[in-house]
Amino acid sequence: MNVAIDGPAGAGKSTIAKAVAEAMNYIYVDTGAMYRAIGVFFLINSVDIDDEEACKSVLDRIMVSIRYRQGLQEVLLNGVNVSPIIRTEEVSHAASLTSSYASVREKLLSLQQKLAEENDVVMDGRDIGTVVLPNAEVKIYLTASVEVRAMRRFKEYEAKGLKPDIEQLKEEIRERDFRDMNREHAPLKQAEDAVLVDSSDLTIAEVTECILDIIREKL
Ligand code: C5P
Repeated sequence: MNVAIDGPAGAGKSTIAKAVAEAMNYIYVDTGAMYRAIGVFFLINSVDIDDEEACKSVLDRIMVSIRYRQGLQEVLLNGVNVSPIIRTEEVSHAASLTSSYASVREKLLSLQQKLAEENDVVMDGRDIGTVVLPNAEVKIYLTASVEVRAMRRFKEYEAKGLKPDIEQLKEEIRERDFRDMNREHAPLKQAEDAVLVDSSDLTIAEVTECILDIIREKL
């Protein structure tokens, strides 16, 4: 059983995908973390992330893999666990930009497909239902309004003692959506056979239950 969960940044994909995977005893695969790990490599090695050719030319020096420790996914960059450093704004930006390059996407495609071949997975990303796992038994397109997503991000920052500007957060979300939805390779879009779930007015538990119901129907 493969479950694909796609949607824009901040829709709650990783929280929901983790909960669904745990309930079903499937493996959760966070594909965004893989793009982030590659972004880390570019930043550490001062590769110009605006230069597609420069990025492409170093790809054979990069090995991304994932492992599970106490049920949690860790993403390894050339054997080193980079999970603790992939959630910064700088890495988000690098991942958002460089994930639009075909060579970068190609690098991760077979790794993602192999994981799904060998395991029951809940995989979240942008192109899982459309490109990576077009035959997934369950496909969900999880979204929420820009306002709700910005407010969720705002609260995350607040919990860390920061005071971000809400309008700026909205602007960043709009920008990232635009880039994800309008890139040439594997843009974010709802697969024809995906179920649309809008989490704007739903709790995490409600969305999780809704997706679990869809999975159980297929078993
Ligand atoms: O989901 P997350 O925000 O961690 O993803 C990081 C970046 O990787 C996003 O900006 C998105 O553009 C890209 N991504 C992608 N395809 C995926 C998963 C993530 O292009 N399947």
